[in-house]
Amino acid sequence: MKSSLELLERARKVMPGGVNSPVRAFRSVGGTPPFILRANGAHITDVEEKTYIDFVLTWGPAILGHAHPEVIEACIKTMRDGTSFGAPTEREIELAELTIDRVPGLEMLRLVNSGTEACMSAVRVARGVTGRDKIIKFDGCYHGHADSFLIRAGSGALTFGNPNSPGVTAGCAKDTLIAQFNQIETVEALFEANPNEIAAVIIEPICGNTGCIPPRDGFLTQLRETCTKHGAALILDEVMTGFRVARGGAAEIYGVIPDLYCFGKVLGGGFPLAAYGGKEEYMRQVAPDGPIYQAGTLSGNPVAVSAGLKTLELLTPEVYQALERTGQRLEDGVAAIIEKNDYPLSQHRVGSMFGLFFTPQDVKTHADVTRCDIPKFNTFFHHCLDLGVYLAPSQYEAGFLSIAHTDALIDETVSSIEEALKRTFNA
Ligand code: PMP
Repeated sequence: MKSSLELLERARKVMPGGVNSPVRAFRSVGGTPPFILRANGAHITDVEEKTYIDFVLTWGPAILGHAHPEVIEACIKTMRDGTSFGAPTEREIELAELTIDRVPGLEMLRLVNSGTEACMSAVRVARGVTGRDKIIKFDGCYHGHADSFLIRAGSGALTFGNPNSPGVTAGCAKDTLIAQFNQIETVEALFEANPNEIAAVIIEPICGNTGCIPPRDGFLTQLRETCTKHGAALILDEVMTGFRVARGGAAEIYGVIPDLYCFGKVLGGGFPLAAYGGKEEYMRQVAPDGPIYQAGTLSGNPVAVSAGLKTLELLTPEVYQALERTGQRLEDGVAAIIEKNDYPLSQHRVGSMFGLFFTPQDVKTHADVTRCDIPKFNTFFHHCLDLGVYLAPSQYEAGFLSIAHTDALIDETVSSIEEALKRTFNA
């Protein structure tokens, strides 16, 4: 049997950090990431044959649980007829129609291969349509690794952003302005300071890349009004929340219709598939109907589209009711432990997406989340892992549930969390 440590040492020689995406390397929590052999339902098994209850779910997509037999079957059937054509298929129309049917105000879309591509392309469309260069993003929101998104807040609320990765040019950074999530006044200030220059505001409607921070009541509606008033596009990045927090995503829950949407994760049913889309007046400007260029060799890949189609088909309204019940069970279980022991923790949950914060404060803003006790989270994370509960290896990541997380598995998880917290706080 190979060990994860042995594989990590081998991997490090040929890949940065030994991984193909940085958080997988466990740098912030320390230790060795389990190398995975297989996953099924709510479980994931590593090369040492240790099985965990999985709350990462490949960072969100596996809402039906891993290796759902009907999804696998659909993919195998498709694959037998060829894995890629670089030419249109009927399946792509079906997926577009199904998506449009489900998401409020979505009129047209384009399939791409990753959430990064979806967000990058949506911003290009907003810039192309408005003829403006600048965008506003929120501190702590993540929209993939395109240059315009790898920007951190400047020294003052009204300054330009600074690159937070070498390789992102100052020229690019000056066009990304940073506002604060749940603080509409920071958005209004940026619009006032940059009149007729802002093409779009891009936001995660529930901030999942700093744990799970829901929008305050009315925040997204205010954002919609502010964008309309200033002639800027509102881009809802529903890569994480789309088809997860509700059948029609966060837009359905909060009653906000953006000009452009970004999707990924659940939409691809575990394959590299994502999409951007929105109002027809924007999407008609995309090539070949319009002049805004965007393309992809593997876009609309038949296997990925089949996985996405089958996943959406299986996501009935009843599934979301079941996920809500599962989420409530986990939330109640954890809340009881926090209360009983008076632990300095707080939590948020929207449907099957949740965050446990190592701060007693109700986390509403990016500043709140930066007050979390990271060393304590890291200790807790490792105790959970030892007890067979696989959480995302960072305080700043959301957790996810699937229909394969039965009540019995949730109860087992709650007991493990209780034990992990006891070990963390009594150590
Ligand atoms: N937007 C959001 C909200 C995300 O959570 C992510 C990925 N976690 C992305 C965009 C980027 O997607 P991808 O990793 O598929 O490029």
